[in-house]
Amino acid sequence: MNEPKSNAYGSERHSLNYQDTYVCPVCRHGHISAIALMDAFACSFCRHIFTANLRDQSIRVEDSSQPMTWHWNGQSWQAANRVDQDLAFIVWLVGVALVVLPPTLIWLSSHTFPPMRGSAWYWFPTVWVSLAFFSHFSFVAWLLVEHYQLPIYVAGKVRLQRWLRRRA
Ligand SMILES: [Zn+2]
Repeated sequence: MNEPKSNAYGSERHSLNYQDTYVCPVCRHGHISAIALMDAFACSFCRHIFTANLRDQSIRVEDSSQPMTWHWNGQSWQAANRVDQDLAFIVWLVGVALVVLPPTLIWLSSHTFPPMRGSAWYWFPTVWVSLAFFSHFSFVAWLLVEHYQLPIYVAGKVRLQRWLRRRA
């Protein structure tokens, strides 16, 4: 077990074991350390639970909707089979359709039946198109960061939850 690795990256590298702490691969903010009497790690900040496979030098997050695995290379985490490719494709397809279609439809209809020039509601289609675009765009942006569990987004969510708890 735990034989020192001989490689060109210097003495900084160390293997994955239950005695050390590592930066959390989910939020990249907290540190994960072993839970007493369990073959698992927990993050000090986002509180995610990971099961470890020391032989493969990998950990898997257990309490997330995304079954994500990371490989420890001695210095940092590398995402392994990060997300299901089919699901990623569907998320992107739906995202692009949601952002592009509604504004296009509104624009098309306002183009086909334009409001009369000089009428009081002449500005309305333009505002409506941009409103449709930005509202759908923010929804899709949220969908994507949630799908990919962007570390900065996860850390922000934890901070928000704590702030809300403190106020409650
Ligand atoms: Zn974390």
